[in-house]
Amino acid sequence: MPASRWITFFFVCCFSSLSSATEQIVVQLKWVNQFQFAGYYAAVEKGFYKAAGLDVKLRPNGYNGSFVSPVDAVVKGDAQYGISNSGLVLDYLNGKPVVVLAATLQHSAVSWIVLEKSGIKNIHDMMKKRLMAVFPLSESLELLEPFRAEGIPPEKLNLIQTGFDLQPLIDGKIDAYDGYVTNEPYLLEQKGIPYRLIDPRTYGIDFYGDVLFTSQSELNEHPERVAAFRKASMDGWRYAMANPEEIIDLIMQKYAPQKTRDHLRFEAKAMWNLMQPDIIEIGHMNPGRWLRIAEVMTEHQRIIDEPLLNRFIYDGDKYQPNLSRYLRIATVSSLLALLLAGISTWIYRTNRRLQREVTARQQAELQLRHLSETDALTGLANRRAFDLHMTQEFQRFLRYRHPFSIVMIDIDWFKRINDTFGHAAGDHVLTEFAWRLRDHIRKTDFLARIGGEEFAILMPETYPLDARKRTELLQQIINATPFQLAAASDMPLMITASFGISCVADNDLVAEAALTRADTALYKAKNNGRNQVVLFNEENKLTLVVD
Ligand code: GH3
Ligand code: MG
Ligand code: MG
Repeated sequence: MPASRWITFFFVCCFSSLSSATEQIVVQLKWVNQFQFAGYYAAVEKGFYKAAGLDVKLRPNGYNGSFVSPVDAVVKGDAQYGISNSGLVLDYLNGKPVVVLAATLQHSAVSWIVLEKSGIKNIHDMMKKRLMAVFPLSESLELLEPFRAEGIPPEKLNLIQTGFDLQPLIDGKIDAYDGYVTNEPYLLEQKGIPYRLIDPRTYGIDFYGDVLFTSQSELNEHPERVAAFRKASMDGWRYAMANPEEIIDLIMQKYAPQKTRDHLRFEAKAMWNLMQPDIIEIGHMNPGRWLRIAEVMTEHQRIIDEPLLNRFIYDGDKYQPNLSRYLRIATVSSLLALLLAGISTWIYRTNRRLQREVTARQQAELQLRHLSETDALTGLANRRAFDLHMTQEFQRFLRYRHPFSIVMIDIDWFKRINDTFGHAAGDHVLTEFAWRLRDHIRKTDFLARIGGEEFAILMPETYPLDARKRTELLQQIINATPFQLAAASDMPLMITASFGISCVADNDLVAEAALTRADTALYKAKNNGRNQVVLFNEENKLTLVVD
């Protein structure tokens, strides 16, 4: 695979993994399924999370030992998001790495609930009374703060650990119950028991109720996911508060089948009052309010300044897409791309080197072959090349019956030239003789020096008479011009040669048969006095039909 394709493949893999399928996240709810979490159900069921690429699992909570602290769950990473209350700011100040994303309940739902018949009308009336509160007391701070504000220390209160049962209140075993305005009043109304709320708000203690939060690490590592999750959740809340009946149906069908429609309606209405979605943007948070809540939460023991809460309160604008993450991916991608490019270059260079070596080897082989098939003196094909060519041509003849002729040539009285003028002069004659032939044969003819002063021509597609005509022409070329014995010599010499011709015959089984006949014809030419052309079939020994 070429480098460019590897690199494309690599980037496709990278980006397909970046734009991976839906991301799975868990939201730890703070209580059992009820209208309290309507916005999150709506976001799931109406596909707001899905549209944001999120696969959200809502994990309800419970009591009697199955209660999970949403803060612990999120900090530990068992859940990525959680629902808590204003106490979250205390967790934050105590070092838990949490970030509050939205306040869905603008006011806390927690309130003292007393029976009308108790005669309790304000917190002063609650002194020395038996009060059911959540322990540790930090959990009931918003209920205890009004006492502190009025100069009553908690030690002076008769506090009893709360249960999740209203019966002790109804039975008069306790005087005030730490409850939710969205829940317990409904149960009392059902039973027709008149009650009264001693609401901390009356004493200027106004905490946020339910808040949505996440961890610092979630925000650092997935800022886009946090923004997307918050937006989809708030869209869910807007939908739920605009269509409470539809969501009540949904809760009854899917989330809390044991709840009655009336109960859920009561809860929805109470929540409407605490959210005021027609006036306040759902989820809105005011840093000043958080500051005040933090002061109360720390029982005014700590001076808290606004910057301290900067990391606690989510500010979407503050969190730009996590550039370092993209930078990391880009760096890794670039390094891998460089590595691939390096490997590709190495492969390319090695390929080229191998190719060069192969070419060089092929050339060397060609050269060797050329040398092994070439006569060094004249540059013509040698005996070996002639034999190879002859074999090939004979194969063609056997297959297609195309005739070919062979001409054997032997220079006359050559020995005398050597003897008289020396070997070099002989060489000179040989070369010139060879070149004259070479320059006057047809392109398709194959000429070779097959021995000392012996030459042969293979004439494809040529019948004997035509071969004789061509040979007589060559004889004339040799005879017409005297040979120069050396470059500087002015002693021209007449040279003649004898020619024997034969044509391949139908009954020839091997190529050598035709060669032998050509030799015989040549022998005849020599015997007849040299300087002549003899065609073997002139003696009528050939069956081949000639033209
Ligand atoms: P004929 O007409 O019967 O062919 O007589 P000839 O002298 O040509 O025949 P012969 O075969 O007796 O002599 C051939 C001579 O060619 C013998 C040898 O010394 C010479 N010869 C062979 N190869 C070479 C060569 O490469 N260079 C030179 N100068 N002479 C060669
Ligand atoms: Mg000879
Ligand atoms: Mg000779």
